[in-house]
Amino acid sequence: MRSIFLNLTEQEMAWKNEVDETLKNELAPFIDDIENGKKEMWDIIKSLGKKGYCGVTFPKRFGGLGFPTKYELILSEAISGYSLSVDMARLSGSYPAFLIRMFGKTKQLRNYVEYLVKGEKIGAFCFTEPDAGSDLSRMKTIAEKDENADEYILTGEKRFIVNGSIADYLVIYARNGAFIIESAWDGFEVIEEYQMMGLHGLHLGHLKLNQIRIPFENALFFKELKKDSPERSSGKTSSIASLQNILVPERVALSVQALGVAKTALYIAIKYSQERVQFKRPISAFEGISFKIAKMATKFEAAKSLLNRMINTMESGTLAAMTKLFCCQVAFEICDDALQILGGIGYTDKYPIERCLRDVRLLRIGGGTDEIMMYVIQKGVYKGELEEEIISEKEKINSFW
Ligand SMILES: Cc1cc2nc3c(=O)[nH]c(=O)nc-3n(C[C@H](O)[C@H](O)[C@H](O)COP(=O)(O)OP(=O)(O)OC[C@H]3O[C@@H](n4cnc5c(N)ncnc54)[C@H](O)[C@@H]3O)c2cc1C
Repeated sequence: MRSIFLNLTEQEMAWKNEVDETLKNELAPFIDDIENGKKEMWDIIKSLGKKGYCGVTFPKRFGGLGFPTKYELILSEAISGYSLSVDMARLSGSYPAFLIRMFGKTKQLRNYVEYLVKGEKIGAFCFTEPDAGSDLSRMKTIAEKDENADEYILTGEKRFIVNGSIADYLVIYARNGAFIIESAWDGFEVIEEYQMMGLHGLHLGHLKLNQIRIPFENALFFKELKKDSPERSSGKTSSIASLQNILVPERVALSVQALGVAKTALYIAIKYSQERVQFKRPISAFEGISFKIAKMATKFEAAKSLLNRMINTMESGTLAAMTKLFCCQVAFEICDDALQILGGIGYTDKYPIERCLRDVRLLRIGGGTDEIMMYVIQKGVYKGELEEEIISEKEKINSFW
């Protein structure tokens, strides 16, 4: 099936073909073993890292490939088509490198980037806490400054962290800053690794930060909060507000992953419906099935259009929320319909559809739930963000008549 991205250039197409070939040989044969816990997925991600697949957009001097963002998204679509779990681990693994680059930090921090980009070390990105999920203003993790030692002291708890229990380097968001820490440092503790409905092979950690001492240079940013400041215990701080800048690209990435999974499910459902014979005909001859395929394909194309518009404009938080909401819901519905088309065999592990359905369900929760996306969208709509377009559409219609 064609790429989810419209109008690929010749070079982008060549990259897609190269990625497809690599993944067919170096990822596809191991998917079942990862799912069944017989193979550690990071063994594979690390070998993909040697090819630059953990840092497609990073300069070559850091072990990356120096390509534009679209190349990273093409790779993400392709890996998610095989395993959402592997792509989530890979992408979350390089988040600390993205953040170090974004904050343009010092030479010492740049040393971390090379290890992460080459896939030699595992990264994680931490903002969620037991009391702070959708509502990050309830975040409690906080850093104190120790002038005498040129260090910050970080205390708190983080949960639902991809790679959290196996990470080497982690970016931790606190009420008053963001810091890069190493799991080998004193005070870092893994409380638990969660068992999940899907995304098997992914390491999802619950972490405790027991007064971790962090050298000054490891702060991506820090803002002192006075001892008597109400901001220390609740409410939105500038640190929490700054997370919004990261959430927009994350929502685009999750939408790409969603459509990567949906494409696999749609492809299998189309093929199966043409091959499976019941009542002396392929089941695609029954409208109950072929109309379902029609609806799935239409939803897929609509989601693709929205995603491409978002990628081409990177317009606003509202459009990013619309894209994430729509792509992730549509992907879930496509996987569910695909399972229905496969009947009993779809419910077994003979085809990857049941895995796709379990895995893709996460995307309606992680990176902002469906409900939070709707909250963001309605706010943008009432603020008049769509008005200009609605007015110009009206003008077009009027001039037509
Ligand atoms: C597999 C997985 C991977 C993850 N990876 C990471 C990671 O790497 N790093 C990280 O920091 N976090 C990560 N997360 C956390 C994820 O971002 C949160 O789970 C998500 O933001 C929701 O928070 P919550 O689970 O606390 O749910 P809650 O915020 O408690 O929400 C519970 C329910 O209430 C609804 N709700 C909440 N507020 C409102 C409202 N105002 N209006 C309407 N409904 C509302 C929600 O939509 C949801 O249905 C991950 C989570 C999972 C499950």
